[in-house]
Amino acid sequence: MAARIIARSPQPAVSGNWQAELRAAYREPRELLADLGLAHAGIALDATTTFPFRVTRAYAARMRHGDPHDALLRQVLPLADETTAYPAYGDDPVGEFAQLGTDSLLRKYAGRALLVVTGACAIHCRYCFRRAFPYQASLGRARLERAIARIAADPDICEVILSGGDPLVLEDDALAALLARLAALPHIRRVRVHTRLPVVLPSRITPALLASLTGQPFTSVLVVHVNHPQELDPATVAALAQARAAGLTALNQAVLLAGVNDDVEVLANLSERLFEAGVLPYYLHLLDRVTGTRHFAVPAARARELEHALRARLPGYLVPRVVREIDGATAKVPLAELPLD
Ligand SMILES: *Cc1c(COP(=O)(O)O)cnc(C)c1O
Ligand code: SF4
Repeated sequence: MAARIIARSPQPAVSGNWQAELRAAYREPRELLADLGLAHAGIALDATTTFPFRVTRAYAARMRHGDPHDALLRQVLPLADETTAYPAYGDDPVGEFAQLGTDSLLRKYAGRALLVVTGACAIHCRYCFRRAFPYQASLGRARLERAIARIAADPDICEVILSGGDPLVLEDDALAALLARLAALPHIRRVRVHTRLPVVLPSRITPALLASLTGQPFTSVLVVHVNHPQELDPATVAALAQARAAGLTALNQAVLLAGVNDDVEVLANLSERLFEAGVLPYYLHLLDRVTGTRHFAVPAARARELEHALRARLPGYLVPRVVREIDGATAKVPLAELPLD
């Protein structure tokens, strides 16, 4: 019986070649649902979405067979709920579009600048705050050159955050070329890589990638994105261990998501499992109100209860900072300073 269930479940690609695994990702929700034994579960999907479906097989393999409420499945499934419009929700919830100017740099906070290096991801998270981001208009060689020129000319920037999309979708040589440009700037002390690939495509974490991140005059920090302990399978834990062994500091940011991780057991377990994998919890973001994501919203009052419950049971260093991004603020705003909605 158990063997039959396993045989029908999504299987991770066995190639170990990350580019091939990326190409083999699910692009059709019905195919994933069928592999999970949910073809006839009556799940109402949005077939009209402009934010396409995409899930790696490595990630799908961690979903529970036959469970329409699986916490990983919920993160990627384009539910019909996405089509309902809500007044407080829009395409640019944190005011990024106007920030872009003529390059691909977002310069919101002191000392740090965020460089959008690609619009591509290995997985499409339905709650993504950049799901309507104008990648087409904001990327390209000329914009990247202007962004690097702006970083080079501004000695106040000591940390560059590589973001996207997912910066580790770039090929090694493109990434190495970008890192070399940053390495030539003496005021850059840290480069932070915001990525989901160690989680959704662990084969991307290769010795060559780690060598290019660590053999630099700046310090590299890896900020991964894990929302649920079920995402931490042995392949991901091994990829994270390699990153730590190479000398990278590893932090996690998660998003508080209704039906995924709005539960003290899940969040406490996530922190414990991250720590065992060598990763410290950094942020737990309140959902940014981007169109199509309201079914993931957790009220601020509930978020406060969860935060208090976490504080009461975990060491301080395993309690993530619960924050919301507010357009115009000088930093991410702690939950304690936010009004209850
Ligand atoms: C979140 C963010 C950062 C990084 O903020 P930290 O609090 O340092 O993690 C930097 N730039 C932009 C535009 C951001 O959205
Ligand atoms: S990996 Fe990150 S950028 Fe890409 S869809 Fe998910 S949340 Fe958005």
